[in-house]
Amino acid sequence: MTVKTDVLNRYLFDGKHARGELVQLTKAYQEIIALHEYPLGVQALLGELVAATCLLTATLKFEGEITVQLQGNGPISYMSVNGDDKQNMRGIARLAEPTDGKGLRALIGNGTMVITIRPEKGEPYQGVVALDKDNLADCLAHYFEVSEQIPTKIWLFNNADNTQVAGSLIQLLPDSDSKETQLSDFEHLCQLTNTIKAEEIFSLDAEDLLYRLYHQEEVRLFEPQSVNYQCSCSEEKCLTAISQVSPSELTSIIAEQGCVSMTCEYCLTTYKFDEPKLAHFINEPKH
Ligand SMILES: [Zn+2]
Repeated sequence: MTVKTDVLNRYLFDGKHARGELVQLTKAYQEIIALHEYPLGVQALLGELVAATCLLTATLKFEGEITVQLQGNGPISYMSVNGDDKQNMRGIARLAEPTDGKGLRALIGNGTMVITIRPEKGEPYQGVVALDKDNLADCLAHYFEVSEQIPTKIWLFNNADNTQVAGSLIQLLPDSDSKETQLSDFEHLCQLTNTIKAEEIFSLDAEDLLYRLYHQEEVRLFEPQSVNYQCSCSEEKCLTAISQVSPSELTSIIAEQGCVSMTCEYCLTTYKFDEPKLAHFINEPKH
């Protein structure tokens, strides 16, 4: 029996002031790492960041997208995952030097995590936290604590051969009950979630896993969402960027190279624009 994967589940613990999420990825993760030749440790960390970004986008209360970027002084100069509320994900890592390191510390070194949230309607906003915990899951929990003051715990898993990644989240819901009751509920659910074993999260369907963990709780499941690898680059977005370049510069690039070409760093698609395609930008000088 094959496990249903590339699915994100969200649920509420009725009467327990908390919500949860579970994401299990196979194909979407494999497609993201297949495009680039990353060392194994980098594949694993990128997978964790993809799973984490799925969990984060599922906490959004509006339509929009999130970019989570890790940057530091380690062998990876930066790593970035971008996803939206429809769970379309893409991700990339840039290496400053070759590495056979594993884990956040060894790969990123001292650094920061920058989370940029862009609602479809409204202004974008950004949160920054130091990567001063031992692993990505704890750094993300720290982000929720600092930026939103919401007690949150996150678990991230990857399997030994880098074919699957998974993650789970427990988050307190603000409500009218006493803080003490809320926190003891939160602790209780975290203890239950802590008993997930990697072999379970990679071999059980969400329903079976949730039953195993929380069968004594009242769990209300929302409609599962499928997670896909999809790059959001387009000719239109390239043209928006090109419109910021001065006509004289465009003319000189075309004279030198025959066209203006742009390559998406996530999916490596190259977009080429020749002179007739850019006539609109070249012939209408901006003031
Ligand atoms: Zn792309």
